[in-house]
Amino acid sequence: MARRKQPKPVHQLTASEFEAMFPNEDACKMYLQGRRWPNGVCCPRCGNPAVYDLPSRNWHWQCTQCAPGGSTGYRFSILVDTIFENTNKPLRDWYRVIHLMLASKKGMSALQIMRYMGFGSYKTAWLMCHKVRTALMQDIDKLGGIVEVDETFVGGLAKNRHWDKRGGGGGTGGIGSGKTPIIGVVSRKGNVVARVIANVRSDTLTAFVRETVSHRVSLLCTDQYPGYNQLDMDYPHATIDHARGQYVIGAIHTQTIEGFWSIFKRGVVGTFHKMNRKYMPLYVAEFQFRYNNRGNADIFGTAIRGC
Ligand SMILES: [Zn+2]
Repeated sequence: MARRKQPKPVHQLTASEFEAMFPNEDACKMYLQGRRWPNGVCCPRCGNPAVYDLPSRNWHWQCTQCAPGGSTGYRFSILVDTIFENTNKPLRDWYRVIHLMLASKKGMSALQIMRYMGFGSYKTAWLMCHKVRTALMQDIDKLGGIVEVDETFVGGLAKNRHWDKRGGGGGTGGIGSGKTPIIGVVSRKGNVVARVIANVRSDTLTAFVRETVSHRVSLLCTDQYPGYNQLDMDYPHATIDHARGQYVIGAIHTQTIEGFWSIFKRGVVGTFHKMNRKYMPLYVAEFQFRYNNRGNADIFGTAIRGC
């Protein structure tokens, strides 16, 4: 099948640029401060912008508006309420891990991170990666323009099979055989939203589309899976019949979302050998973030802002 070319990813930080930007912990903290509080440091509890530097400790502030029980105020550090709080790893290590995760199209496994970073423990690498993934979760505005919706299954034995190659699916496609269904919607040249779902029944698919796709969309493309039939009522819905060998009819195709699945599955199969269903939403968030920021020259800074 012909696959449309994915947009070329923009330049990301090179190793030497990373070294120059983050020579030490202070540089990392300064960068974090700029991302967290672009308009100046505010109290994370009450939003008060008139906080005082704590002279005794670097990267700590005090809010006198938050003074429970006659205390002198609430003291907080640069790391409070971030994924870096209570960490025993330098911020520079975290930044390196984030940079590695963002710069590789298919992602990096915790094992690769552990080896590359020289961490003594797999658990440490694994926890760091998962914390980073939670920071990459984003709310996406409802999609417009021409959108494509498709579902896929990962895990289990028939991991790359689509419902129509499994002899029907009948609305439960793959459930019970250990495969995790994921639905995705993409706006061509725009964002993708993907989510782990419990089943591929019509009501589940329709609810997801209503939540993520604007009703002012110009065209909504799916394959001929009957689970999408309800969308005819709300959307300009067009289908492509893969079972009959159709893949593209003019503007009607699902190749953009299939391109996303392709990257995701190559990551899942090639990199994350033991991807637990429980953590699947985190991996989905990671791939979604990379895809949606493929044209963002400040992808690293965007990630840090979410931390
Ligand atoms: Zn406060």
